[in-house]
Amino acid sequence: ATPTALMVGTGRGAQLGILIKGPEVLENTRRVDTVVLDKTGTVTTGRMRLHGAHTAPGVTEDRLLRLAGALEHASEHPVARAVADAAASRAGALPAVQGFESVPGLGVQGVVEGHTVLVGREKLLAAHGAGLTEELAAAKAAAEAEGRTAVAVAWDGRARGVLVVADAVKDTSAEAVARLRGLGLTPVLLTGDNRLVAESVARQVGIDEVIAEVLPQDKVDVVRRLRAEGRTVAMVGDGVNDAAALATADLGLAMGTGTDAAIEAGDLTLVRGDLRVAADAIRLARRTLAVIK
Ligand code: ADP
Ligand code: MG
Repeated sequence: ATPTALMVGTGRGAQLGILIKGPEVLENTRRVDTVVLDKTGTVTTGRMRLHGAHTAPGVTEDRLLRLAGALEHASEHPVARAVADAAASRAGALPAVQGFESVPGLGVQGVVEGHTVLVGREKLLAAHGAGLTEELAAAKAAAEAEGRTAVAVAWDGRARGVLVVADAVKDTSAEAVARLRGLGLTPVLLTGDNRLVAESVARQVGIDEVIAEVLPQDKVDVVRRLRAEGRTVAMVGDGVNDAAALATADLGLAMGTGTDAAIEAGDLTLVRGDLRVAADAIRLARRTLAVIK
């Protein structure tokens, strides 16, 4: 009866929009007690929009957007898309970038119109000796207190402004978290973004445990640590920066709307990128196992 039960399970999975790598994957769903959720693109839409700009004295908003937008045009990060789109719709054609470099989880740098420009976390600017002025730091803190993501802009070694972008929580995420809890799982939000932003998203969807400001390469260590504490971990993610964590988790669930790297690393793919299906997947897998037993 075993092969038939597995076929039923995977066939029903396909109907629900779940692709299962192989029957052996199901076995791991039984003991899962913790589900780690990536924030950007998994719990939130990942489609960010520019919400506002704050400039240092002597810098116009147009100039800030033009230089930051030119640089972000070369990046595929959701924050970058928001900044580049806003800059292009305001300024039209953006200047070219030389020596573009992306620093994972921190931001981007490159030369625009002869200026060495940085866009990203405060940490990235600090590493280049460009600390935020008191005014810019206050603008950033105020935006983050409201649950928005604020990135800093510097050129020629000085902070020039802060750009505020906002990303919406998917309207299915709160229900998805409730369903996961209903299966007895503890949800954990994991993100490279600021703690205040992460906590705001967690509150909106009903998650109590938040692990924020984690660099992309360190996400896998968080999963390892949770497993070392004796937890059995499912991880849901969409990004290149989630791939190692997805592969290391007891059960990796990739958003079908995400990157190829995440889909390849996952055990299961949620085809439509609907987080509620993560709960369906775990429930279906457990039920299929119950039939086999
Ligand atoms: P998440 O874990 O939520 O998917 P990331 O690890 O991709 O987030 O990014 C973490 C943070 O690094 C972002 O919230 C942003 O502040 C900063 N960052 C990363 N890439 C960029 C970029 N291209 N431009 C500006 N900021 C960036
Ligand atoms: Mg993500």
